[in-house]
Amino acid sequence: MDVLKVGVIGCGAIGREHIKRLHNKLQGSRVVAVMDVFPESAQRGADLVGSDCKIYDNIEGIVNDSDVDALVVTTPGFAHKEPIMAAIKAGKPVFSEKPLATTAADCKEIVDAEMAGGKKLVQVGFMRRYDKGYRQVKELLDGGTFGKPLLAKCTHRAISVDPSYTTDMAVTDTAIHEIDCMHWLLDDDWTQVQVIMGADTKHAHEGLKDPQIMIFKSKKGYTVILEVYVNSNFGYDINCEVVCEEGVINLPAPAYPTVRKNQMISTPIEQDWINRFIDSYDVELQEWIDDTKKGEVNGPSAWDGYIAAVTADGLVASQTSGVMEDVSVGETPEFYR
Ligand code: NAP
Repeated sequence: MDVLKVGVIGCGAIGREHIKRLHNKLQGSRVVAVMDVFPESAQRGADLVGSDCKIYDNIEGIVNDSDVDALVVTTPGFAHKEPIMAAIKAGKPVFSEKPLATTAADCKEIVDAEMAGGKKLVQVGFMRRYDKGYRQVKELLDGGTFGKPLLAKCTHRAISVDPSYTTDMAVTDTAIHEIDCMHWLLDDDWTQVQVIMGADTKHAHEGLKDPQIMIFKSKKGYTVILEVYVNSNFGYDINCEVVCEEGVINLPAPAYPTVRKNQMISTPIEQDWINRFIDSYDVELQEWIDDTKKGEVNGPSAWDGYIAAVTADGLVASQTSGVMEDVSVGETPEFYR
């Protein structure tokens, strides 16, 4: 296959970014069809490609179009399951933005359907795994010279969130990245999680608990402490430090020039996730294109999506209970090892 012909389902913010990437920027793919429940959004998506792009208003149509080799799902999370299940049924590879689905039960249905089909088809958009810095941390950890990881400390700060952002979204929208990324970095599963609320900032809208501290315990005994603070008022600030037996690995924010002016030394700070992770989206989708053309899925799997959903459920329960909640994902099926 010279060119992977892709159908994109959901032409909102990230959908349109991915259409541009797949059609114009990356190697070996083009977008041949789009679908959105909102006709104007679908048209806007198609306009990025050109007049020969087909426009669908239903999932069955785009998934079963014989011209479409693979699907990219960029609808809101609650609308991921239906197109993913349709793609599995049609035997077509599907890349879905995170989360895989919004409940652990729905994620499990996807996992079961994929296993029943006997072929890995699903990849989840956990793009931190494609970030250059995180990949270097992974290489150092896997290299073994730092010894056993003991604990990790992470921060996930944003400038502000809009009024539709609710307390549970600190887990399901924000911490979901660390849930997957730290599971991948440490190569371990979570057994217990807890949320401790910080003192509320006056910058949060009414009813939103912000900041929140999240604690993860893993099977091998590692502890991860994550600060989620989405009304920091100063920047998009992602940090990760892994404390190991033989040293410490620290991943700071990417470097900007430091300037000396007005009796001060200062460095700009990232303002949003688009800039911070723009390169990782390119790497993520280029690898997905290359793997898909070879008939392989090597990125975050449906099982990883299921692990994230089960862990998120535990954290959301702890937001109310305040205590450590057990997380039980069970053994990784042979199919996903
Ligand atoms: P968005 O701007 O709301 O776009 C979603 C689009 O899908 C909208 O055009 C929406 O139409 C459409 N849609 C809704 N239900 C649909 C359905 N059943 N079938 C087809 N289309 C449907 O959302 P977004 O910010 O692009 O986010 C999309 C997904 O990407 C989310 O899962 C989000 O978590 C994920 N995301 C991931 C990252 C990352 O860092 N990896 C970053 C941003 C977003 P209406 O407007 O009419 O509802």
